[in-house]
Amino acid sequence: MSDRGVFRGRLFGPGLPGGGVDAGGAWSGGEIRVTAADAPETLGSSPVVTAGGFNGTSLRLSWETPAGSFTLVLDDDGEIARCHDTAPPGLRPSIAAARSSRHRVDRRFRRGWILLVLAALLLSAATLRLITDSDRFARWVVDRIPVEQESRLGDLVIAQSRLQFPLTETGKEIGVIREIGARLTPGTRYRYRWFIAERPDVNAFAAPGGVVVVFRGLLDRVGSPEELAGVLAHEIAHAEHRHTLMVTVKSLGVRGIISLLTGDLSGGGVGDLSARLISLRFSRDAEREADDEGLRRLIQARIDPRGMIRFYETIERKGGGAPPPILSTHPATGERLQRLRQEVARHPGPWDPLPREWGDALRGR
Ligand SMILES: [Zn+2]
Repeated sequence: MSDRGVFRGRLFGPGLPGGGVDAGGAWSGGEIRVTAADAPETLGSSPVVTAGGFNGTSLRLSWETPAGSFTLVLDDDGEIARCHDTAPPGLRPSIAAARSSRHRVDRRFRRGWILLVLAALLLSAATLRLITDSDRFARWVVDRIPVEQESRLGDLVIAQSRLQFPLTETGKEIGVIREIGARLTPGTRYRYRWFIAERPDVNAFAAPGGVVVVFRGLLDRVGSPEELAGVLAHEIAHAEHRHTLMVTVKSLGVRGIISLLTGDLSGGGVGDLSARLISLRFSRDAEREADDEGLRRLIQARIDPRGMIRFYETIERKGGGAPPPILSTHPATGERLQRLRQEVARHPGPWDPLPREWGDALRGR
């Protein structure tokens, strides 16, 4: 039997141990052919397909033989999918039906859980206002938002941003941003997406779910790939610590929080996130955490961390008039720069210089 089209599960039946044996099944014509290490190959024609197991999360294929009835139980999503995709056309509908009943069970479980959360939330409308303002409550909610849900929130921010300004997501500069970003995010749980907002503001922000937006005005002020890396490291740190999600949750109110928890983003409960993010202010603690974590990531990637400091110094010096948004939303106070300098001084390198071509690409060459 070739390995292609083999789906693995546990086989139960006459002569087999009570706990079943590991077995591989494959479709052969209208029949299922099952082999297990210590059992003779069994053949079943037109097996009966049902959803089974605790919570109905597995797929069961049962068939009769002269020796008695056998059941192959598939637990893993991938194995179930392979079983479905390679099945004879006549059997596919019943496998698909069992699969969807399985998802229904998942959904029912999720609904039950959500109702529980809602009940807890609505217990007292008066205390609710109080707790939605608290960091601990926001953290509690944030810890319950799955990464996929957070990514959908990121999608929403991108869609909303596009209505307000053009977003560039291809080209040399994005290539450089992506390369630097990859070095700064080893082993991340997010699938990062990088954008340039075609706006003159000196700004950058991290949206939930690993979306990082750098403004054209900031790119134009960046003197080297290392300086850009400094900005990216800081924004990545905000993303990894879910700071944006945290502030979003805190500013949303009950309706938005319910939207986030239930996964229903269609009702407008989360409002105009994009506009919110552009002028977002984090707490001093969050900023300090992003600086420290950003620095740690730069050092780990062997990227010269002095770029981060240089960038802050440059834009602070060139200031004149109102500070650029990245400074007003990311207060680079003297104290903060001093902390960064002290920290960097403890790490003498050596550093791997970032490719010259990256600098050229950033200068539009
Ligand atoms: Zn920040």
